[in-house]
Amino acid sequence: MSARFYADLALVPGSTVSLPEQAARHVQVLRLQPGDALTLFNGQGDGRPGSEGEFEATVEHMGRSEVRVTVGAYSATAREAGRAIHLVLGMPANERMDWLVEKASELGVASIQPLMSERSVLRLKGERADKKLAHWRGVAIAACEQCGRNRLPLIHEASGLAEWLKSNSDAAAADTRLLLSLQPGTRPLAEAVAPTGALTFLSGPEGGLSPAEEAAAIACGFRPVTLGPRILRAETAPLAVLAILSA
Ligand code: SAH
Repeated sequence: MSARFYADLALVPGSTVSLPEQAARHVQVLRLQPGDALTLFNGQGDGRPGSEGEFEATVEHMGRSEVRVTVGAYSATAREAGRAIHLVLGMPANERMDWLVEKASELGVASIQPLMSERSVLRLKGERADKKLAHWRGVAIAACEQCGRNRLPLIHEASGLAEWLKSNSDAAAADTRLLLSLQPGTRPLAEAVAPTGALTFLSGPEGGLSPAEEAAAIACGFRPVTLGPRILRAETAPLAVLAILSA
């Protein structure tokens, strides 16, 4: 497979385009030459609703910073997971969140909603929140380039858990909502999920969710499930869910 690059552009076979800055830099780093083949994806496929394939492309011109490529054939290849899995999670601090975004993207996550909850270590707002969000979206793009996904996972702005529950309180929502819980007597994940259909998982930060937060989530339609008797780290638990359900 030739090197893959995300380009947030409408791509049309036969046209020549200038790659966006990030992809151009990446092509420069790989020292591709005119005539070399690459693969481009834009998350929108060829523009038809629901299409999410990729395009062959050939390097046309390597400038000092500009890279022009000719777009070739479109192939309607999709490498998405069989079901949509959404993660709503207490953000782990430091580079653990980067790690989570990368691995979750590889494992096919549909969306990630970072949360601040009572016991969160990481609190983000303003410019710092915007920077982090842009950084995580970049991590997801790199993961999709690497693993062959042509659709980027959606990464939402960080929100407080209470606010998120308030604006997503529809207990009759179409998705199945599951709360990753350490409470004794909780039902195992495998018993709680139907074989198909969208799923939304809520999991806690390093310090876990408070009993009041768990109760609020349950009131919003989340049903508690366990991943077993060991306490998994805040980034391990959601990744385990994706691995279990996408295998
Ligand atoms: N220090 C916290 C642990 C938090 S682990 C405590 O002892 O309560 C971080 C989050 O991962 C938890 O809030 C929970 O949502 C999830 N989690 C970890 N291990 C789990 C397990 N075995 N089953 C279900 N959820 C788990």
